[in-house]
Amino acid sequence: MKRKLAALIVSCISIFAAGTPPVPTLQFPPIEALKARDLYDTFDQMRGTAKHEAIDIMQPRGTPVHAVVDGVIAKLFLSKPGGNTIYLFDNAGVFCYYYAHLDGYAPKLAEGQHVSRGDVIGYVGSSGNANPNAPHLHFTIYALGPEKHWYHGTAINAFPYLLEMVQSPVKR
Ligand SMILES: [Zn+2]
Repeated sequence: MKRKLAALIVSCISIFAAGTPPVPTLQFPPIEALKARDLYDTFDQMRGTAKHEAIDIMQPRGTPVHAVVDGVIAKLFLSKPGGNTIYLFDNAGVFCYYYAHLDGYAPKLAEGQHVSRGDVIGYVGSSGNANPNAPHLHFTIYALGPEKHWYHGTAINAFPYLLEMVQSPVKR
């Protein structure tokens, strides 16, 4: 009986391992001085009729935001709700890191530009539909599909990854 159970567990683990999607690895925090107390898990909150699917990090206007991975600026997009946004792809094109409500972009930032983890790519603001009195970074990780479109991905809750990053800064 025990052996059967063990075999079952082993087969479950191998199925799980084979089907496990890749996990995003943040290499630098989006806000350099980010602390655990700055993080709230609002991923599943409703905003109007849609799920928020992002983490809001409240910061003073103009606070630099950083590339969280080595990658490429896939898209700079002015969206009505998101304002000034950045879509940063990792080098493998597996994940997209989305920054919204920016006050502006880093000087000379351009689509197709390669960036390194920690590079300043923009500044916290309240562009789009954010409250002008509550500037913040709206941050989401998307798992890109095989077609790797910047506008189409599956949102992943960044909260545990951000928390892990600020709690173990050694990983940088
Ligand atoms: Zn938000």
